[in-house]
Amino acid sequence: MIAEVDQNECIGCESCPAFCPEVFRMGADGLAEAYTNPVPSECEEAAKEAAEGCPAHCISIEE
Ligand code: SF4
Repeated sequence: MIAEVDQNECIGCESCPAFCPEVFRMGADGLAEAYTNPVPSECEEAAKEAAEGCPAHCISIEE
């Protein structure tokens, strides 16, 4: 599974690292990035929840 953040749409709300810090982090520019790909299998559920919880709908998950 691959997680990706569209930083053109990210509003920097810091929600995704709260859901899944193993995969998402906030960069120095205040925008989220997916830094662990492929997503470890034990983090897949949390990564999906982070994507579903993103208010800007800018996290894509590819199986
Ligand atoms: Fe950006 Fe979405 Fe993560 Fe919020 S949840 S920091 S809008 S990618």
